[in-house]
Amino acid sequence: MFSTKTIELKSAKEIGLMREGGAIVAATLRVLSEAARAGVSTGELDRISREELKKRGAKPAFLGYHGFPAALCVSINNEVVHGIPSEKRKIKDGDLVSLDFGCVVGALYADAAVTVGVGKISPAAQKLMDVTRESLARGIEQIKDGGRLGDIGHAVQTYVEKNGFSVVRDFVGHGIGRALHEDPPVANFGKAGTGMRLSPGIVLAIEPMVNAGGCDVETLEDGWTAVTKDGSLSAHFEHTIALTEKGAEILTI
Ligand code: MG
Repeated sequence: MFSTKTIELKSAKEIGLMREGGAIVAATLRVLSEAARAGVSTGELDRISREELKKRGAKPAFLGYHGFPAALCVSINNEVVHGIPSEKRKIKDGDLVSLDFGCVVGALYADAAVTVGVGKISPAAQKLMDVTRESLARGIEQIKDGGRLGDIGHAVQTYVEKNGFSVVRDFVGHGIGRALHEDPPVANFGKAGTGMRLSPGIVLAIEPMVNAGGCDVETLEDGWTAVTKDGSLSAHFEHTIALTEKGAEILTI
């Protein structure tokens, strides 16, 4: 996935295109969050995501990526990431639905994810969602000139574990720009004060995947869907963030 050790810094023009794409990703995720209701199929959500892109003149980032068959990933309850949408899979009341979505504008990528609760969810599911969302915010706070990559993972992990949950190790965030996944990998765990130094022009997708139980995951027979090994619930939030001379800017908002 990370073929080069070179970190590509982005120009203001490139970041501008990613800001455009990021706004489209954010708008689409808002539409999808509203549409994710009991009785709706995950295939229908994928269809909506493609229509939103078409309307806004952007291309899907995930469709065809290493053969992925959809524009959207929908991962429900114990599914962590990379769930494949299907007409047969209906959302149920009480489900925790993670929506991961990306687009391409002017050959530049933007990537984000949200988890939504459908109907009445359990207090435990609500807490998992809240902690995961907040862990992303804590990771983003570490994106500053002269900061270290390890500060991000450390901030995410510390907050998640303090709340009794675990961070997934097998999947990580990433640099993003002319490719969906660029260097550096951005782990959701790590040591503060370690790793590469951050400087203006770097654009990262930070994406904590947080399990209510253990951190281990496994992949289903479809070759894509990652689930928690212990069957516990999982949540996922992601933003694409640029570090500019003015500081960190969330592009997928
Ligand atoms: Mg991502």
